Amino acid sequence: MLDIDNIFEKIKLDGHRLTKIRKAMIGILFADKCLLSASEIRTRLSVSGLSADRTTVYRELGFLLEKNIIKEIRIADRKTYYEIVSPEHHHHLVCTKCNSVQEIVMGNHLKRQEDRIYKKARFKVLAHSLEFYGLCRNCR
Ligand SMILES: [Zn+2]
Ligand SMILES: [Zn+2]
Repeated sequence: MLDIDNIFEKIKLDGHRLTKIRKAMIGILFADKCLLSASEIRTRLSVSGLSADRTTVYRELGFLLEKNIIKEIRIADRKTYYEIVSPEHHHHLVCTKCNSVQEIVMGNHLKRQEDRIYKKARFKVLAHSLEFYGLCRNCR
């Protein structure tokens, strides 16, 4: 199970500082787990009484990406989002009308497909990104 204290521990063990902002940002991303934009993260920081400028937020996001604690997801031509790398791998259902995003967990079909890719093309898949676009329950 992915635990927020494990993340803090890992950062310290790697010899990095656990600053207030860094800790708060991990907390925000961990609480939500799915798709947050940089500006949403900034808003949440200020709600909890921490003000961080854009540069600081992007620098911290860069650090967390580099440490493989979060991943970056670009949804079509829209914004870039960030989420915690979680052991429960999920995909996104994006509504093209109201822009809402839902999470979906999809068995192991994709894992099998990746094994086939390896057999057929000798290509070792390390990661994938998959979003489904359509109309949500409310917009259908
Ligand atoms: Zn997600
Ligand atoms: Zn919708």
